[in-house]
Amino acid sequence: MSEAKLSARGQPAPDAVRWTCPHGRHAAKGCVACYEAATEADPALPLWRIAVWFTSERPMPIRVLKDVRRHGRHFALDQPSTPLVYLLSGQARAATSAEAIAGLVGFLVGNRHIVDAFTVTEIRAVIAP
Ligand SMILES: [Zn+2]
Repeated sequence: MSEAKLSARGQPAPDAVRWTCPHGRHAAKGCVACYEAATEADPALPLWRIAVWFTSERPMPIRVLKDVRRHGRHFALDQPSTPLVYLLSGQARAATSAEAIAGLVGFLVGNRHIVDAFTVTEIRAVIAP
């Protein structure tokens, strides 16, 4: 099983390369191009199961959290018990974990009506069995 974990605090420099998507963006910052590329991803590519924890500057209404599920990509946005901490999870096909993560976070970047300012604090990505 291939697994990638990121704690957003303090990345050693060589590790940063692993977290860079094909468009040169850090996966934790999100990439709209990766998000869009995932729509037409080659079915032969690995399917990643991704979970991204992030903090929002403002609380998100429950209605918004539920709307994410209707988005068509089977992403889920949940609120664990900590205030202003959210969990975005989903699956995506991509060649690398960085690309899969950048695409999932890219969903947030491309949908500013969901969350306008956020900081990713933790990421988990595993290849789905
Ligand atoms: Zn990208």
